[in-house]
Amino acid sequence: MGGQLQGKGVDVENYPGLTNMTGPGVVASMRNQAAMYGAVFEVDIVTHIDVSNRPFKVYTNSSIISTHSIIVATGAESRWLNVSGEYELRGNGVSSCATCDGAAFYKKDVVVVGGGDSAMEDALVLARTSKSVIIIHRRDEFRASKVLAKRVLEHPNIKVIWNATVTEILGEIVPTRDDGDVGEDSFTDSSDTGKKIVSGILLRVNQDTELITLKCDAVFVAIGHDPNTSFLKDIVEFDNGHPGYIKTIGKSTKTSIPGIFAAGDVSDAIYRQAITSAGSGAAAALDTERWLSENNLGNEAAEFEAELLAEMLANTRQSPAYEYNVYEESASFVKGTKESARGEL
Ligand SMILES: Cc1cc2nc3c(=O)[nH]c(=O)nc-3n(C[C@H](O)[C@H](O)[C@H](O)COP(=O)(O)OP(=O)(O)OC[C@H]3O[C@@H](n4cnc5c(N)ncnc54)[C@H](O)[C@@H]3O)c2cc1C
Repeated sequence: MGGQLQGKGVDVENYPGLTNMTGPGVVASMRNQAAMYGAVFEVDIVTHIDVSNRPFKVYTNSSIISTHSIIVATGAESRWLNVSGEYELRGNGVSSCATCDGAAFYKKDVVVVGGGDSAMEDALVLARTSKSVIIIHRRDEFRASKVLAKRVLEHPNIKVIWNATVTEILGEIVPTRDDGDVGEDSFTDSSDTGKKIVSGILLRVNQDTELITLKCDAVFVAIGHDPNTSFLKDIVEFDNGHPGYIKTIGKSTKTSIPGIFAAGDVSDAIYRQAITSAGSGAAAALDTERWLSENNLGNEAAEFEAELLAEMLANTRQSPAYEYNVYEESASFVKGTKESARGEL
């Protein structure tokens, strides 16, 4: 539980009001706050949803949950290269988010892998702060939009290696406490076993048998994301321009099914940040609350009252001579005109 931020061991630097907090720290703090206000957590995987009847049924690996409304916030998974060293070095030089982790490689040599719009944007973001940016692309032309590709190709700080694939990400051990000296001699504290950080990549260019070693301090993998929406296939509408991402209506978090709302990365192929996800989560909570109250759902006491009132009104409609008055019992204490419940409806 906790999502993508659980994988961010260094500080989250672009969330308003937070300083010196790692990804898991931010998640723990959000979780504590939600628990304090009565949120109940159930750790399980949703396998499918039945919307043929209301309340909906949410099927998990171990339970079936009945609910009037659902906020889908299942996020998106970055695609990875699946090469040796990549998983091990995630958070220590391997990243899938240049906006999030780029600043940590100020004046360093970085590599971006990919050829689409995300790779172009990542390269341009990194070029502002890094010493050099090299894009590794497996084809001989980008599939990114022409405007972005042109900006990248004309940028003096960005180079491209075409027809190349990364076969391994290399690492080296450095002291855990960063004293600026990363050489072996700097291990003065014998208890410091060090940590492994990215030192380069192995590349195959033009399908040559011989591999090339390219030194670098970070590798940004920008080959796309897959939103976690397979359990909603054939249920909600998806965004035509961004396959797999849930389509929301206008500026709201409403989906094509009334009562199902979407928030965070699962419905946002553009921004994909913690703060934008939290913002749309807040919007989804408001949209859901409003929808429930408009439909007299969710509050058992209110639902019972509404049902009772509907029943009484149905009875009164059958006997038109009788005007039901909600204030009748207390009428003797009320001055002025009596209001008729019937008149309001
Ligand atoms: C390495 C890294 C560093 C980042 N750093 C920053 C940063 O510094 N600043 C920033 O603003 N953003 C950062 N981001 C982006 C940020 O983490 C995401 O934008 C944000 O977490 C999206 O939140 P979310 O709730 O929409 O989805 P997620 O965080 O992806 O959470 C979705 C959750 O739903 C769960 N889930 C998926 N499918 C199912 C299912 N079928 N049933 C039940 N549960 C399911 C997942 O397991 C996960 O726990 C970073 C991302 C990464 C990967």
